[in-house]
Amino acid sequence: MNRNVFLPETLPELLELATHYPDAVLYAGGTDILVQLRAGTIAPPALICLERITALRFIREQKNHLVIGACTRLTDILESSPVAAHLPVLRKAVRVLGSPLIRHTATIGGNICTASPAGDSLPALTILEAVLELHTSEGARRSPLHEFILGPGRTARRPGEILTAIEIPKPAGFNIHHFEKVGQRSALAISIASFAALLHMSDSGVIEDARLAWGSVGPTIVTSKAAENALIGNRLNHDVLTHAAAIARAAVSPIDDIRASALYRRQVSGNLMLRLSDYRHPATTDTRHIL
Ligand SMILES: Cc1cc2nc3c(=O)[nH]c(=O)nc-3n(C[C@H](O)[C@H](O)[C@H](O)COP(=O)(O)OP(=O)(O)OC[C@H]3O[C@@H](n4cnc5c(N)ncnc54)[C@H](O)[C@@H]3O)c2cc1C
Repeated sequence: MNRNVFLPETLPELLELATHYPDAVLYAGGTDILVQLRAGTIAPPALICLERITALRFIREQKNHLVIGACTRLTDILESSPVAAHLPVLRKAVRVLGSPLIRHTATIGGNICTASPAGDSLPALTILEAVLELHTSEGARRSPLHEFILGPGRTARRPGEILTAIEIPKPAGFNIHHFEKVGQRSALAISIASFAALLHMSDSGVIEDARLAWGSVGPTIVTSKAAENALIGNRLNHDVLTHAAAIARAAVSPIDDIRASALYRRQVSGNLMLRLSDYRHPATTDTRHIL
């Protein structure tokens, strides 16, 4: 098929192209898009490649936030000192996404806009309360991540709109950053279930605050206030975690697919919570989040 391929070099050039070719597909690292093009599941009339737009590749530290450009490669996130210092949960998630080759090519914006329930950055970005910056040639808007992702492969992206950056508040007070995923193999595996947690544990070992999210076990990322409340005010002992895990299993809504049954995914969603018992000794918590 003949199709136009555009390689803009600046953001204004990109926005103009996106306005003129609303049916064009954006190509960042291409690790999702190429699979779809080769399988013939999409046949866009034009591709707009983002690789030359260096203005969308950055990690900036501000007083209370980190701002990550949408075309920032996952490898750059892994190597970033501000990310390691303030967002260990995101770093842990990115570290197990794909392979070194994939992480060297794939972008954070591509992981978000693919809107896969198995997107490994999404549980971490959800509990970090990430806000997306979106631009068209007409102007800009901001959207919380959880409002942007509508379902598998579906987002609230408007025609001609570009995700330009992700603003992530520094999560003050959370001294435990946890991410784990379960796949069919221990490396280069799409998640069957994943779990991200931010916990604030006091010096005496009591959980003062908790944010929890699961991936791959619902049409979008699953959160559960009830499971968070089951931890808050308690220690991470067997009874507390078993109770919270049961709440988590009731909160998720997994499906059967080629990778796992819904029943297995539901069970694993709870089991992943039980791992938090590794953090039950406060003396170890200030270093546990560091990779
Ligand atoms: C072998 C292999 C293993 C993988 N393993 C994993 C894994 O373990 N975990 C995981 O989460 N994913 C995995 N993936 C999926 C993929 O690598 C990630 O989702 C990756 O982050 C996509 O980024 P990209 O830059 O390559 O996106 P692209 O393929 O370029 O784009 C993905 C989608 O996002 C849109 N898009 C991209 N950038 C923008 C933007 N700035 N504004 C608006 N829309 C945009 C594109 O139009 C497209 O619809 C794997 C893929 C492969 C091929």
